[in-house]
This record gives sequence, structure tokens and C-alpha cells, in this order.
Amino acid sequence: MTKPASNQSSDQWKASRHKMVENQLRFRGIKDPRVLDAMDRIPREDFVSPEQKQFAYNDCALPIDCSQTISQPYTVAFMCEAAQLTGEENVLEVGTGSGYGAAVLSLLAREVHTIERIPELVKQASERLTRLEYSNVHVYSSDGTLGVPEAAPFDAIIVTAGAETLPEPYVEQLREGGRIIIPIGSEFMGQTMCRYTMINGKLSQEDLGAFAFVPLIGEYGWSR
Ligand code: SAM
Repeated sequence: MTKPASNQSSDQWKASRHKMVENQLRFRGIKDPRVLDAMDRIPREDFVSPEQKQFAYNDCALPIDCSQTISQPYTVAFMCEAAQLTGEENVLEVGTGSGYGAAVLSLLAREVHTIERIPELVKQASERLTRLEYSNVHVYSSDGTLGVPEAAPFDAIIVTAGAETLPEPYVEQLREGGRIIIPIGSEFMGQTMCRYTMINGKLSQEDLGAFAFVPLIGEYGWSR
């Protein structure tokens, strides 16, 4: 008899995860071997509620508490690849959510600072990341549009919620040669993923394609 998805053995989860890497990521053009390996190692099923576990490796975002989402696996991999990480970087992630993206980044960078505006999600993600022993991840509870000045400068800033414009604090907290990956556009109608690179003290912008994110809410984001 087949086990219910939520009750799978670790080998079965591993097989589902590997299938996701091959069919959703490699197939769609994710090439960075470190990103593919990290996505193959982080157990997405541990970052969702018991009711959502059966969908952990589906090709979609999933609901988490407080009306927020854990991003689609492809989106997480796409943003990590766009950040061009080698393992030496000090990284800021804005929008901790479930903590899944931070866990993936923990395998790709030296230090990961992740900030979330909803205290309940901060509590859940901190507990989860501590329990799963991601020791190079530091979780902050505050408005992430202000960045994390005390942990700057950053080699990469990855923003997992959609903004109307690039928040100025990110520019101030980015190191020379650093990258900001951020969806910019409408609050509810989708955004363009942008990569800003600091070259000789100036930002150069590239558009990387269309995505849809929950809004970035805060002093330099959308108001509530
Ligand atoms: N990276 C997350 C994960 O792996 O589960 C997914 C993040 S979810 C798509 C976007 C998150 O950004 C939400 O949890 C939301 O509360 C958060 N957010 C929105 N505005 C924010 C802000 N100003 N500062 C920090 N977090 C913010």
C-alpha cells in the first residue's frame, strides 16, 4: 500500500526532491551546480505545515501562516543563481517567511542575514532554522526595507517580496561588486525580476523576467 505523502520515509522525500531538481529546475535552465545541489539537500517538507507537506515538491508557491507564501522552488533557485554566489559572501535576504530560502542560501554563502516583518513568522522560522541547525543564518524581526545596517556591507541582497522601486537603504548597504536581486513592479499584477550590480560606485540594472510576489510592505515599500 502507498503511504500518504505526509508520512513518507526520508528516502521517499529525497527521491521527490531530486525529481523536483531535475524536472523543475535543470529542465527550465537552472545551471549553477551549487544551486542545484543546495536545492537537492534542503528538505522543503520541513518548512510547511503538516497539511501542505504532500505538496512540498509541487511546482508552485504554497501558503504558510499569516497569509504569506513559501516561494515556488524554481523562483528560489532562480534568485539564488542570479545572485552569483561562490560561498564567501555575506548575504541579506528580505522576507524570511518559512525560512526555506534562508536555508538554501546557508549552503551557498558564508553568512546569511534574513529579516521578516511579521513577528509570528520570525518566531516559527527562527525555531525551525535552529532545530535544523542552519548555524550561519541570523534572523531579524523588523521592517526589511531598511536593510540590516549592523550586518552590512552585503555582497548580495535578495528580496523575496515585490517592491514599487528599489529601496535606497539596499544601495547604501551593498558592497562594490555586489548584487541586489529584487522583483519590481505592481503591487498585485506581477513584477520584473531585476538584478542591480554595483560597478565603480554606480548601479547597473538588468531585467531577468516576469514573476509574481506578495508585496514588500514598509517604509521604503508599499504602505499598509
Ligand atoms: N523566503 C520565504 C520562504 O522561503 O519561505 C518566502 C517569502 S514570502 C514570498 C515574502 C515574505 O516577505 C513574507 O513573509 C512577508 O511577510 C515578507 N515581507 C514583506 N514585506 C517585508 C518587509 N518590509 N520586511 C521584511 N519582510 C517583509
